Amino acid sequence: VLPAAVMDSIIIQERLVERLLSPRTQAQRSHPAKLKDHEKQYVGFATLPNQVHRKSVKKGFDFTLMVAGESGLGKSTLVNSLFLTDLYKDRKLLNAEERINQTVEIVKHTVDIEEKGVKLKLTIVDTPGFGDAVNNTECWKPITDYIDQQFEQYFRDESGLNRKNIQDNRVHCCLYFISPFGHGLRPVDVEFMKALHEKVNIVPLIAKADCLIPSEIRKLKERIREEIDKFGIKVYQFPECDSDEDEEFKQQDRELKESAPFAVIGSNTVVEAKGQRVRGRLYPWGIVEVENQAHCDFVKLRNMLIRTHMHDLKDVTCDVHYENYRAQCIQQMTSKLTQDNRIESPIPILPLPTPDTETEKLIKMKDEEVRPL
Ligand code: GDP
Repeated sequence: VLPAAVMDSIIIQERLVERLLSPRTQAQRSHPAKLKDHEKQYVGFATLPNQVHRKSVKKGFDFTLMVAGESGLGKSTLVNSLFLTDLYKDRKLLNAEERINQTVEIVKHTVDIEEKGVKLKLTIVDTPGFGDAVNNTECWKPITDYIDQQFEQYFRDESGLNRKNIQDNRVHCCLYFISPFGHGLRPVDVEFMKALHEKVNIVPLIAKADCLIPSEIRKLKERIREEIDKFGIKVYQFPECDSDEDEEFKQQDRELKESAPFAVIGSNTVVEAKGQRVRGRLYPWGIVEVENQAHCDFVKLRNMLIRTHMHDLKDVTCDVHYENYRAQCIQQMTSKLTQDNRIESPIPILPLPTPDTETEKLIKMKDEEVRPL
């Protein structure tokens, strides 16, 4: 029951591939036997994207999303709204006393969802207890440790013998929920994001945006953007839009970038608004629609996460965050080796062949024979 999102992204990719293929090469693809003379000049590598597409659809996709932020900010409701699943059926909520010395837990929920034949293995990493204790010093530590452990596991698997079936549990994105009730970031928000920004793609969100009027949302967004700059926090940067994209796409991309940090609303209920059944929140004074772009940025967030940027989030995780971890690991391993005064290289060097004495003797004899008298 995944939203049309994943399938739409596949359709978009398909259209791109179609665009890449000239009509002639498409004809070749469907009727290879009926090639006309001028079509024979085509080797056929224009169908390569199609082969990749087929293979990846067959293999399925995976995505790991982390949600973090103080409890009660609507994280579970938003995740359910995003993926139209009920991931939190068995959740046990703690009372105030139990939360005094609350430690941050890491809870993983995995669901296999399928939409029009495309499979997605979605893992949600929840962090209940974050920011809930009386003393929240270093409450992000279990979260950074978890992210590092996943990198470590991947590093080990990659260096092992069976590299074909590596399970990738690295966290591709972290949705960080900011309270709508403050005047910007709280110290714990700053500390959390600073502790994690080199390890994971952070997407900050303003939670429960229905608690604020539009001008308040604008002000809070501005404030958060300023503070993110001031404290040198590196949140996920949307990639530059290609110059050959059409105007509509460029406009959407601009709007997406201007809307950050997204102000979101979640709801687990479907209500009736103007004769239509929509996901929303029913108040005595009206209905807040989750998927109405005039009400909040939920659709922008969902499109970004699923339709347009899922692949980029995975690429940045692999090429930037994991590479940093890997480089650090290798550096530590090498410096440890030099400290131990061991001359061996961490990379096994093949022994050079030692010339055998018989061959040497023979060469000497031949040299003697050919030497001029
Ligand atoms: P979590 O502890 O962060 O996972 O928060 P929950 O998803 O359990 O939500 C806590 C409470 O906030 C519940 O009563 C939700 O119905 C409510 N809630 C969730 N999302 C929103 C929202 O967008 N706006 C408002 N006003 N309330 C919300």
